[in-house]
This record gives sequence, C-alpha cells and structure tokens, in this order.
Amino acid sequence: MIDATLWRDIKVHQLVRYEALVNLLDDIQLLDDIEQISKRIASQWKYFANATNWRLVLPANSEFLVIDGSRGTAQVTRVASLGAWDAHHWQQKLPQRRLLPLTDQDGLRPPDHLLFPSSKEIIVLPFARDGKCFGMLSIAAHQLPFNDLDMKFIQLMGRQFATRVVDILLRQQATQILIERATRDALTGLLNRGTILERLSSQLALARRTQQALSVILLDIDHFKMVNDTYGHAAGDDVLREIARRLLSDARDGDHVGRYGGEEFLVVLYPCNQAEAVRAAERFRQGVAATLMTIEAAPAPGLPITISLGAASAEDCPQIGAADLIQRADRALYTSKATGRNCVTAFVASN
Ligand code: GH3
Ligand code: MG
Ligand code: MG
Repeated sequence: MIDATLWRDIKVHQLVRYEALVNLLDDIQLLDDIEQISKRIASQWKYFANATNWRLVLPANSEFLVIDGSRGTAQVTRVASLGAWDAHHWQQKLPQRRLLPLTDQDGLRPPDHLLFPSSKEIIVLPFARDGKCFGMLSIAAHQLPFNDLDMKFIQLMGRQFATRVVDILLRQQATQILIERATRDALTGLLNRGTILERLSSQLALARRTQQALSVILLDIDHFKMVNDTYGHAAGDDVLREIARRLLSDARDGDHVGRYGGEEFLVVLYPCNQAEAVRAAERFRQGVAATLMTIEAAPAPGLPITISLGAASAEDCPQIGAADLIQRADRALYTSKATGRNCVTAFVASN
C-alpha cells in the first residue's frame, strides 16, 4: 500500500518534471534552436509519462519538418512529402490509439523507431488551429498502454511543442518575406539598387583584404523605349523579366546581379579580373542577343532584343571606391552605345 504522503510526493515530483519539460519549450527562440532543444526534450521525455519514442510532424513552407525522438535523443529532418503512416493520419486529422502489435493489414507501418520491442501502443494526436492541422504527434507507450494522466500530459506537451515550433517557422517565413521585399526588385526578382550597391561595397572591401581582383559590368537594354512605345509598357516589363532570367542563368555562382535603374543592370564579379569580366560580359551579351524574345504582346517569332555593356575592374586600382568603379563601367557602356550597341567595351583610361 502506498500511503497518502508518499502518493502526494510522487505527484509533486511528477508535476515538477512535467513543468521542467514544458519550460524547455521556452528556450526555442530561433530555428537553429529546434534540434538542440528537441534533443533535450527527448532526453527528459524518455520513459516519462510512459513515453518511449515519438515523432512530431509540422508543416514548414511547402515541406514538412519531422522531429524524431528516439532513445533519448532527437533528429530533425525536412521532407518534401510524408511517408504513408504520417500522410494517412495527417489527412484523417483524428486522434488514434493503436495497440501493438498491429493486427490490421492496412499496409500502414509506423515509423521504425516507434516499433521499439517494449512499445505497447502508439497514439497519434493531430493538433488543429482554426480547423487546420498544424502538427501531429505519434508517440509509443513503454510496456503498458498510456493511462489517463499520461494522455493528458502528452496532449498538453505535444500541443505546446508543436505550437512553439510552428510559430517560430511562421516567424522565420515572415522575416524571410520582409528581407526578400527589402532586398529584391519586385519586377525582376534581382537584387534591387540599394542591395547591389551594398554588395559592391562589401565585395570591394573583401577584394582589398584578399588582394584579389573585382570587376563590375553595367549593361543597358538597346532601344528599349521602342519596345514600350510599340508593344506597351506590360510588354516592356516582360522583356525586363526575361533579360533578368537570362542574366541569372548566365551568371556564375558568386556573381551578384542587380537592377541598377529602369533598364540598366549591374553585375558584381569577384574574384574576377578585367579580361575575365570582358568574357563574362560577352556571355551575357550573347545570352540576350542569340535568342529572340517571345513575349505575349509581340508577334511570333519574337523580338530581337540586344544589350550594350561596359566592364571595369579594380584589378590595377584596388583602392578605387564603388562610385568611381561604376562611373568607369558607365563610361565604357557609353562607348558601346556610341559604337553601334549590342557590344562590350572594357574601360581604359582614355574611354
Ligand atoms: P538606348 O539604346 O540608348 O539605351 O535607348 P533606350 O530607348 O533603351 O533608352 P531610353 O533611356 O531612351 O529609354 C529607356 C526606357 O526604359 C524609358 C523608360 O520608360 C523605360 N523603362 C524604365 N523602367 C521601366 C520599367 O520598369 N518598365 C518598362 N516597361 N519600361 C521601363
Ligand atoms: Mg538607360
Ligand atoms: Mg536603353
């Protein structure tokens, strides 16, 4: 017989442990914390509230975050789609209790780590907010089925865990969207003027520290006004988007491509000397000129769009500032315009 005092002590002790586990959730502040805190939760949740191993599934953008607690540690993975067990229960949105071993032959096999030899049952708890499932916990019971108190605690803990992580994922998505809006040009998706200028400054500083060359290419669409005047402003926008797409596809990893002004673009290349910059500019030029641009408003087979380019390098003048380097590229671009367009000019002091 357990006397009343001992029983009360056991309950108090249990409550303290519950509290400690729930408090751990407050430590999840950032996305990077999730794995660390999940590990600590798993180490404390092991065989407590009669739980052995568990899986928490959460939506993350168009993917899922899967947190597996197993043998007192946790692993976080991102998956594009759920396995059969998770997908089935996620769709059903209904709590389930399944005693082990499973007898039905529905082909749904729980995740391996939930089929621990000592597991007696698995419960699946979907958590909903505004009628939408925002998380789902599958958890295995150790040796005995879960009792009512275990169930209550698991409900509470699972829901809070899911809420915490989902809120952080949502916050991160919102921050990402704000950062995108602040740094990207809305029409083309390229870096906006402010951001490409910031990149140029930081890359110039890096170039000085590493004593490696940096170059820029300034480019401008030829006779772009005519596109607008002939086919309308929306067609002009289509051309700007298509140019951006081609520039990006011809850029190398590490090149920064930005929309510098209306129909002018700036590419920052590092490390890259003048000769390499001229080759890159030639690649961009051909990437635009070689294929007609099929846009909705223009007749088939498409428009012959070309660009003029100016390249300038800090190769021989590592102390040059961003504004002066751009001015050099602009002078070279002006020469390209003056000498027939659809060509590349490299800055030389006599430009
Ligand atoms: P050039 O070969 O000398 O560069 O001639 P151009 O016609 O390209 O140059 P100009 O400076 O005369 O015209 C640039 C045009 O770009 C005028 C402006 O309306 C258009 N433009 C600037 N920003 C946008 C935009 O966001 N969308 C569209 N559709 N047009 C734009
Ligand atoms: Mg222009
Ligand atoms: Mg132009």
